[in-house]
Amino acid sequence: MKKLYNTAAHKGYLLCHTCHLLSKAATHVHSIHCPRCGTRLHSRKPNSLSRTWALTLTAYILYIPANLLPIMTVTMSGKGEPDTIFSGVKELVLGGMWPLALLIFFASITVPVLKLLILTYLLLSVQFKSSWRPKERTILYRITETVGRWSMIDIFVIAILVALVKLGALATIEAGAGAVAFGGVVVITMFAAMSFDPRLIWDALENDHE
Ligand SMILES: [Zn+2]
Repeated sequence: MKKLYNTAAHKGYLLCHTCHLLSKAATHVHSIHCPRCGTRLHSRKPNSLSRTWALTLTAYILYIPANLLPIMTVTMSGKGEPDTIFSGVKELVLGGMWPLALLIFFASITVPVLKLLILTYLLLSVQFKSSWRPKERTILYRITETVGRWSMIDIFVIAILVALVKLGALATIEAGAGAVAFGGVVVITMFAAMSFDPRLIWDALENDHE
């Protein structure tokens, strides 16, 4: 038997996204505004599912050039080869720079992939109206939202390296097209996580009446 939950939406409560004031909607009117700050209120983010799907798929597609194209080229005394994320990590390991290699690996391979996989799982579970462990799925969503910002470490590292090396004339580092694609993956995944409405997870647990 399905356990029944009472959600705020079911009882006619709406949360303001801007100031987090919970207000009660009298009837199912279409345009309701927050009495405190005037933001338009929605019981669920409009088109959350299709928007999140579109953004997640875009991020997956961009992840391919992000890994195949060189993320940067380091030229030292005239010699240099373009590096992809993976070859960069390999070189750092060979150079004995383990902590940096691990950081880059974690930030540019583990985190973005995990985040996309979790988002895909959440999307599928909502799409198929799963009622399995809604609380854990909500926690999973919160982790995804928090952890995503750390992927930017990679872009920071390149930016700092480029800035540092531009100061000295011995070596040059140039960011490659892969860095642009990777930045796109990170930003688009962030938007995907933002457009996903975790409250949708709870909709499948409600009574069958609409
Ligand atoms: Zn408000």
